[in-house]
Amino acid sequence: MLPQDLHIHSTWSHGDDAVVPEQRIELIAAVRHARICGISDHFEHVVDCFDDYAAAVRAAGLLVGTEIDGHEWLSPALAVPCDYRIFHCRDRTADYRALEQLLATGAPVIVAHPNYFPTDLQRVPPECLVEINNRYVWRDDWQAFYGPWRERFRFVISSDAHQPHWLDQTIARYVAAQLDVVETLVFTPGETADASHA
Ligand SMILES: [Zn+2]
Ligand SMILES: [Zn+2]
Repeated sequence: MLPQDLHIHSTWSHGDDAVVPEQRIELIAAVRHARICGISDHFEHVVDCFDDYAAAVRAAGLLVGTEIDGHEWLSPALAVPCDYRIFHCRDRTADYRALEQLLATGAPVIVAHPNYFPTDLQRVPPECLVEINNRYVWRDDWQAFYGPWRERFRFVISSDAHQPHWLDQTIARYVAAQLDVVETLVFTPGETADASHA
């Protein structure tokens, strides 16, 4: 079992073509591939039904996250209760500012696949967690991208799974091992049912 996976999509991400119909919350919970396990469906897909989404995730015994697509979604994303938030930080001043506001909630803030946009990690508050993402990390020179920031940030390793067979972190864990970074476990295994942040 993996230590942690907080970046998982389900069929609640109804507008994401990569999500297959089998990727239901119930299946993810049944597979239970990680000890610390959270669902992070796209905020724009669950904003209008967030209470139902969060209830479904909690009923399955999983942590409630969401993936926010930039500062444009900040206000409504701050208004919903989440255990943690994952953020698309493009190289825009308003996105870096949004990270500060997300951190102010007290809930963990994870910078999603920063090599993909790319995010300028120099401008990211060091209190943010930086993701090594199994779906995207191999597309770039990850040694050059992540290497200089190993001392500045804490890291999380994520699958970004959209399908059952993506519930894996093989590439991301290989990269983390090569970088010699130690993953930060955001929650305590066994106590995740009590996690609840505004
Ligand atoms: Zn993403
Ligand atoms: Zn994602």
